[in-house]
Amino acid sequence: ADEPPVVELDNAEIVYDRTFLAVQGVSMSADRGDIVALLGPNGAGKSTILKMISGIGRSERGEVTRGSVYYEGDEVTNAKTNEMVDRNVTHILEGRRVFEDLTVEENLRCGLYRGGRRIRYSKSDYDIAFEYFPKLEELLDVEAGYCSGGEQQMLVIARALIHRPNLLLLDEPSLGLAPKLVVDIYETLREINREEDITMIIADQNAKETLEVADYGYVLENGQVELHDPADVLMDREEIKEFYLGTS
Ligand code: ATP
Repeated sequence: ADEPPVVELDNAEIVYDRTFLAVQGVSMSADRGDIVALLGPNGAGKSTILKMISGIGRSERGEVTRGSVYYEGDEVTNAKTNEMVDRNVTHILEGRRVFEDLTVEENLRCGLYRGGRRIRYSKSDYDIAFEYFPKLEELLDVEAGYCSGGEQQMLVIARALIHRPNLLLLDEPSLGLAPKLVVDIYETLREINREEDITMIIADQNAKETLEVADYGYVLENGQVELHDPADVLMDREEIKEFYLGTS
């Protein structure tokens, strides 16, 4: 049977504060099991798109003013965050938001709550976190603020995995990490995507590493889709090589 995409934007226009046009008529989709890369420079609209999918954008006075957003075939245009959380959409915001004064374990425990309700009860709920990030098990009693940037990024992703998301939205997971760590994190994301059947949309300025693991990519500029193609095709396009990969 023809399965609807996990997420689809149909000609979506997104406006902040009823005045600022951030995204102008973007159409894109993510099929089940795919990793979709959202690329483009600062301010292109990548975060805005993720925020309107998860509903978080509403709290920043963002609104889809034209076009539609669909999730699993249902229209969810301007849906609330709670609704999307209940539908297993998990959004990892930009900037590695850990609770610095809490230990790694306490940070992970926050992953067990959803809208104030506890979603699971046993320690084995952390298994999925340790399976992909074994290092975290050694760091359980360490305050997150003392962890390295790479460890904090692992923690944020691990905490999101405990939610058992159907769709995981990641905003700039590679920001500020050493190149080797970027590759590690991306390879782990690929593994998680494959093993756990979690559809992902990754917004990143780091085109190379993102396209290496993505199935499909969109390049945004000034709130519009400039290019879109399967990731391997996109990687070979001259515009991408020239502007994003520095290999032309
Ligand atoms: P970055 O990597 O910097 O997050 P981006 O591609 O994700 O870049 P967005 O953050 O989506 O870009 O920003 C798109 C446009 O919307 C920018 O011009 C930005 O200034 C504007 N914008 C973002 N958030 C808000 C907000 N809360 N209120 C008003 N304008 C906003």
